[in-house]
Amino acid sequence: MDTQGGRLPLKRRGLLAGTVAAAGVAMTAGLSSPAQAATTSVTEPDRFPAGRPLLIRGATVITMDRARGILPDTDVLVVRDKIKAVGRKLSAAHGATIIEARGALLIPGFVDTHRHMWQSALRGAGADWTLTNYLTAMGMLPPLFRPEDIYAGNYLGMVDAVADGVTTVLDWSHGSVTPAHADAAVDALMAVPGRARWAYGRFPLDLSWVTSGEVDRIREARFSSDDQLVTMQLALHAPSDSVGDAAWRYAVEHDVPVNSHVGFFGAASDSDVRRLVENKFLSPSTTLAHATAMSDDSYRLIADSGAFVSLSAESDLNMGQGYPPTGVVRRFGIPISLSVDSLLGWSGDMFSNMRAILSAERGLVHLRAHERGEMVASLDLRAADVLRYATLGGAEALGMADRIGSITPGKLADLVLLRQDTPSMTPVNNPIGHLVFHAGRGDIDTVVVNGRVLKHRGELIGVNLPRARRLAEATQDHLVSSIGEEAWRNLIDPPRP
Ligand SMILES: [Zn+2]
Repeated sequence: MDTQGGRLPLKRRGLLAGTVAAAGVAMTAGLSSPAQAATTSVTEPDRFPAGRPLLIRGATVITMDRARGILPDTDVLVVRDKIKAVGRKLSAAHGATIIEARGALLIPGFVDTHRHMWQSALRGAGADWTLTNYLTAMGMLPPLFRPEDIYAGNYLGMVDAVADGVTTVLDWSHGSVTPAHADAAVDALMAVPGRARWAYGRFPLDLSWVTSGEVDRIREARFSSDDQLVTMQLALHAPSDSVGDAAWRYAVEHDVPVNSHVGFFGAASDSDVRRLVENKFLSPSTTLAHATAMSDDSYRLIADSGAFVSLSAESDLNMGQGYPPTGVVRRFGIPISLSVDSLLGWSGDMFSNMRAILSAERGLVHLRAHERGEMVASLDLRAADVLRYATLGGAEALGMADRIGSITPGKLADLVLLRQDTPSMTPVNNPIGHLVFHAGRGDIDTVVVNGRVLKHRGELIGVNLPRARRLAEATQDHLVSSIGEEAWRNLIDPPRP
């Protein structure tokens, strides 16, 4: 069946209007006035000027802080980049901007620990792909990516993450195949005021580039401070030879965290884990993305090493890297974070990924019980577990749990406020269950990163969506014209079995 998908990229879509009437500084900003929402644009004078404290008042605060739990009718005061106070009836610091949030849910920002941001301009192209289809596409498209295409993907990826309340994202940057591509990837992450961990990688399995001086170059040039919104680590394939071992040894010796694709059905698997363990390359600074389709021995070795996993359930279920291993990973006590993997197939929001994790694991538990002629009496995997994986779990995997991941005084202010007045948010009986199963990206009212309001009343502030669209469309046009419309159409709509 021929879909229309292949024709879309060649049509010039209308861009958003560049300017909208400016609004004055609002000292009090509620959640439910559509009239004001219409006046927000990137050209608007900042309603939340830098340096002015922010008071979010009366929310149901899901802190993800074990000592605090869920706090009804609670205020959160942000001063500069940090959460200053969490409590009832806080007095507004002098000149604070107030967001009235009575009854709305406030959570820490989501943390995605594995996303190939450079593929963002291919959003949705792989909706019907298997891993085989993906590898076919990756044999064609990456060589066509110019540095500006890497920039376009990363820029759109950051805008998308901020809009969806993913306040920290690990960019698994294996499209960075030359220093110019790598610089473009970093430039784009730094051009959008979200928080990111740039994980430098390459597509080929050869890891000789790691010790060539290139990693030293970019670390010194771009990542001199750990306090930047964008920090750096490595994204490495599992080693298969002495060159690969040297690359991993570089990471250990320079104390650089590593995220690795380990645990793919039919590919990276048990032998990789054994090699990593034998060389003492796994540690709490390591995160293994996907981590499916391995033996219990491998999961035990991973647990013993202290390494984290990053589960990509929506990607794994659709493309077939392996069944999401949530149950076995929990059984061995391996710490869990969540990831989108890529926008090229599935959604970029963590609501969908939390639901995919729950549905996959619960479905499997029910199926196994039914095969024994039994019914499941109670559920072990809870909504609260997956919300933790999507927030504090991600912060822990990135080694940042002392700074982000929960609404705790002293931590950096990365916050997501959900609207309380949409049908899907009415009424709230069970805040975490509601958030995980009923909320969606359209319910996100306000996003704060590092104390700065980047979205309010559902509109981005100081984040340039029109530019992201222009850049992504230029990349679409370049890729389609390079391979031809028919090849593009065949890529998007591969034959059925
Ligand atoms: Zn991946």
